Amino acid sequence: MSQTTFSFEIFPPNKESAAEKLTETLDELVGLSPDFISVTCTNKNDDLARLTVKLAGYVKNRLNVPSIAHLPAAYLDKQQVSEILNELETLGVTNLLALRGDRIEGRKPRDDFRHVSDLIAYVHENFPDFHISAACYPEIHPESNSRVDDIKHLKYKTDQGVDSLITQMFFDNESFYRFRECCELADINTPIVAGIMPIVKRKQALRILNTSSATLPKKFTAILNKYHDDPESLKAAGLAYAIDQIVDLVTQGVAGIHLYTMNDAETAKYIWQATRSLFENGRKVHQA
Ligand code: FAD
Repeated sequence: MSQTTFSFEIFPPNKESAAEKLTETLDELVGLSPDFISVTCTNKNDDLARLTVKLAGYVKNRLNVPSIAHLPAAYLDKQQVSEILNELETLGVTNLLALRGDRIEGRKPRDDFRHVSDLIAYVHENFPDFHISAACYPEIHPESNSRVDDIKHLKYKTDQGVDSLITQMFFDNESFYRFRECCELADINTPIVAGIMPIVKRKQALRILNTSSATLPKKFTAILNKYHDDPESLKAAGLAYAIDQIVDLVTQGVAGIHLYTMNDAETAKYIWQATRSLFENGRKVHQA
């Protein structure tokens, strides 16, 4: 049995007060012994990648936890990307989640990294010490015309040299299993880590109900509809739903669980406490 990883995603705060809170959150997350913590990066402003670099360095060097820096590159050129990668390397952070990034209305992407595969090839050629992860979409990327196109592009992207894939959030495990099967058929053998978003707040519940393009199983929409105005019940049911998803995924041999924490340590802690033996027993078997 191979080890199933358990990891977190955090995002850099944009205010001083939030930065203090994040330090406390991180102290709690570190106590849960994650395999790694990934740090998101917005592409709304070229300078914001600095916050990601700084935070990824903090996680790696001050907290002693492996960190992955997200890097959406569509609006960057080669020189900017090289500067960011040099800074990361100086900090000892050599794990990257390579991304194209979302399109921003009214802003023209640069030509250097039109697709993330261009970034992956560039990093391999110029920064060979980096381990590269990339994003994948069990329910296809919204810009893709078809499942076939999406998988073909994913195959091309992983062939550029991707060490692991992390999925977009999903609420229907069956869609993940279908996707995994398509990857196998396409000879995409990169480990796939499942991104899980626990829905525990009213705002999240309403956003998912009103705008999500993900498949929402009946049992899940029933929870959101019934409890979105009842914070305690929504939290209890949302956590139970995420735990149920995780138990099933680990049982079905997923490579890892990446929790979209939304910088909320309490949720991460609750989920870890409920599921830790699944991961720790895997670790013991792996070490034996
Ligand atoms: P790509 O793999 O390049 O794919 C984008 C689209 O182009 C797809 O439809 C694909 O099928 C198509 N495509 C790919 N290659 C080709 C090709 N050669 N020819 C034609 N079409 C092609 N965004 C952020 O801004 N910051 C973050 O920190 C961030 N973190 C994320 C973490 C995860 C785990 C995930 C799943 C997404 C994250 N995103 C983030 C969102 C991501 O940037 C968007 O989904 C973006 O629209 C696509 O990025 P990508 O790297 O997957 O692009």
